[in-house]
Amino acid sequence: MALFTDDARPGTPYWWDGLALAAPDDPLPQRVDLLVIGAGYTGLSGAIAAAERGVSVAVLDAGDPGKGASTRNGGMFGAHPRLSWDKLRIAFGADVADALFAEAEPARLWVEDLIERHGIDCDFQRTGRIQLAWTQSHFDGQRRLASAVSEKTPVRVRLVEREGLSQEITTERYFGGLLFEDHAAIQPAKFHQGLLQAAKKAGASITGQAEVTVLDRTGTGFTAHTPKGTIRADKVLLATGGYTQKPFAWAARRVFALPSYIIATEPLAANLLGHLAPGRRMMVETRARHSYFRLSPDGTRILFGGRAAMVNVDIHTAAARQMETMCEVWPELAGTRISHAWSGNTGYSFTHMPHVGADQGLHYALGYSGSGTVMAPYLGAKAALQALGDPEGATAYSQTPLARHWLHPSTHPHFLQAANLWYRHVVDGWENRKAR
Ligand SMILES: Cc1cc2nc3c(=O)[nH]c(=O)nc-3n(C[C@H](O)[C@H](O)[C@H](O)COP(=O)(O)OP(=O)(O)OC[C@H]3O[C@@H](n4cnc5c(N)ncnc54)[C@H](O)[C@@H]3O)c2cc1C
Repeated sequence: MALFTDDARPGTPYWWDGLALAAPDDPLPQRVDLLVIGAGYTGLSGAIAAAERGVSVAVLDAGDPGKGASTRNGGMFGAHPRLSWDKLRIAFGADVADALFAEAEPARLWVEDLIERHGIDCDFQRTGRIQLAWTQSHFDGQRRLASAVSEKTPVRVRLVEREGLSQEITTERYFGGLLFEDHAAIQPAKFHQGLLQAAKKAGASITGQAEVTVLDRTGTGFTAHTPKGTIRADKVLLATGGYTQKPFAWAARRVFALPSYIIATEPLAANLLGHLAPGRRMMVETRARHSYFRLSPDGTRILFGGRAAMVNVDIHTAAARQMETMCEVWPELAGTRISHAWSGNTGYSFTHMPHVGADQGLHYALGYSGSGTVMAPYLGAKAALQALGDPEGATAYSQTPLARHWLHPSTHPHFLQAANLWYRHVVDGWENRKAR
């Protein structure tokens, strides 16, 4: 039976349907106070924050602005650190771990306010997000995380025991879950387009198809070279996420592109969806395959994302793997057809945490490691403010340095080929045995 619907366009995100994505092409200014490289959430939010403080800002993107991760993601909206408090303490010390936990709620609220202030229509829904435990030991970890979160922050979390899971999801697969009550759902491409309009309105110039191929340090500033000409800037913010390449070798050795794949099903019967996902939450798994899934904003389909591979594979292969994983969770979906399948690059750091900092005067916010709908706009603004010397740029994420790893000596993540095999053939099997 065919995997795809007859009208499927594999490779194109579901989110782009019916949207005329803007392709801004402002002429390159000769000189600006702040040059932003990359027009995803990080770059646009940084541009808004800077332009609102009255400085001149230009945003350049190598392709059409937004066609990086920011219009391709799952639209799961929340800011809790990816690591437990204990792991953060080991990596960065107890004070930093506390500060990172404390910043999660203000970060989410800050981005919600940004959406509100700029009147961005992005199908925002307060769905809550549930993390589903694949093994008993994952659930034990969730129990510890829930008490750390409740003890240290005002974030509303609730542990869902295995018996209570049927109110959230109909499957035998999970050992329990951790519900972040205030996390939400967005339509990511609409969010991006709203940020783009807000950045333009604030006075930033935005130019697509303007890849920065060389960045020279000139005097106290920079000169950027692009196919559309050169531009001088006092300050530069690197906001290239999982698309960071060689001209920025320092960053590319610390943040690597890890692809993530999503499929969307054809529209499904309302009673089937109500049966499969009665909680209508954003849902993520704890296993290394890292599946995340949700209903579409109109509640008619399931969007099922995950790590079909840790390297770039053909979209048909990835879609078939995602389908297989989806049917492990919901066997009822066998035979369902896929209307969309696409991928994007997440910018992963070796600590799994983002960082805001500067290398020889080049400011950056990078390394969201798959969790950027809140952190990218939030830290993009922080990084831009730091570049301008504004004390409001202070954040605990300046204390999460991007680590290097001996596995990744060059700017291309060759190690992912081996990691891909390791995860598919060893970790997957190991986690599945633990799940029985
Ligand atoms: C499939 C997928 C699912 C995801 N799901 C979620 C989710 O549900 N929730 C969540 O919180 N996060 C999710 N993420 C992560 C989130 O989308 C990202 O963290 C976030 O969009 C990063 O934004 P950014 O602006 O830093 O990078 P991007 O949006 O990737 O933008 C970087 C831009 O830099 C440009 N660029 C690169 N090099 C140059 C250059 N030399 N010159 C000019 N421009 C350049 C690129 O063209 C690109 O447009 C997901 C990511 C993917 C890929």
